[in-house]
Amino acid sequence: MADFLTTYGTSYQIENIIINAKTRLVLVSPYLQISKTFYERLKDASNRGVRVQIIFGKDELKPNEKNSLAELSNLELHYFQNLHAKCYFNEKEMVITSMNMYEFSEKNNREMGVYLTKDQDSEMFQKAIAETASIIESSEDMPLVKAKRELGKKSKDSSKNSKKPTRGYCIRCEDRIPYNIEKPFCKDCYYEWEEWENENYEEEVCHACGEYADTSMAKPVCYDCYKKFEK
Ligand SMILES: [Zn+2]
Ligand SMILES: [Zn+2]
Repeated sequence: MADFLTTYGTSYQIENIIINAKTRLVLVSPYLQISKTFYERLKDASNRGVRVQIIFGKDELKPNEKNSLAELSNLELHYFQNLHAKCYFNEKEMVITSMNMYEFSEKNNREMGVYLTKDQDSEMFQKAIAETASIIESSEDMPLVKAKRELGKKSKDSSKNSKKPTRGYCIRCEDRIPYNIEKPFCKDCYYEWEEWENENYEEEVCHACGEYADTSMAKPVCYDCYKKFEK
């Protein structure tokens, strides 16, 4: 019989659905953000040969998140603008809930959910699968290709004297901002950073190329970009 879930139980069951998936994994969630843990779980599933389908409705994926997803085989991304439902299932178990994918590690929200299995609640299970299939049917496929970086022309011997880019990336959130190694944050992230003013606080993104890199206010670009643009 179906089980009622609160916040903790919901995240627990969603995580188990991902871990236990053997052939199929479907994640329906308007908001999608790829945390490190979540990405690793997806990667494991894709390596096990599980067919993963993600349906989402707010295209706020960062270039690095898209690039990470593009590296997974067996993964399909579908975009459906009017999506409001949240539902997660593998070939056997399902959670229907208020919880968005990226919130499954957040413990402060109050969520509710229902857990059901194909064996014990087969009618409900089939209906939810049919509804998901209908959503996928009218959704857009999002081809997963590596996001192109606007770095200007890359010449073969770009090792020195390259022209500095005009646009850069916020080293915390990847938003596009003017290139300026004195100001490698967007406004919002700068205000957050300013609370502590720690020049060496570790950030994740290179201000110049937008790729993942160990950066900070003091060293906002990756080593390659430093050699190329700042030396
Ligand atoms: Zn930012
Ligand atoms: Zn770089």
